[in-house]
Amino acid sequence: MLARGWRRACPRCGSGRLFRRWFQMTERCPGCGLRFERRPEEAFFLGAFVIAFGVTEGAVLLVLFAFILVEAASGGRSSVVPALGVAAAAAVILPLAFYPFSKTIWCAIDLAMHPLEQDEEREAAAALVGGPVSGG
Ligand SMILES: [Zn+2]
Repeated sequence: MLARGWRRACPRCGSGRLFRRWFQMTERCPGCGLRFERRPEEAFFLGAFVIAFGVTEGAVLLVLFAFILVEAASGGRSSVVPALGVAAAAAVILPLAFYPFSKTIWCAIDLAMHPLEQDEEREAAAALVGGPVSGG
């Protein structure tokens, strides 16, 4: 499931084409009908935000750690400006670039922790054939 998430694919069936645009995810998987935002009342995609935040902070820390190594090797004569520039660029670009991956990865984690209930499976199947989907 996680490998599928890293490929921006559906964690349940592996189907792709889940994004209409880079930032616009389809509501359901076109392959299996899985509804991605499984519990809308709980701010479901907060987990995706946490993943993107963690990846970004990790990258910024790596840049700053690399700067510290360079600084130590050069005897403290290098400028901090290039490192800060790279870290700032990473802090802006990474969340945008990683956004769709963080959503599908979060869907995979959630699906692994909370397997589909029977009514979710029925709803997904009904959505696939375009039939009536009971609310709730
Ligand atoms: Zn699917």
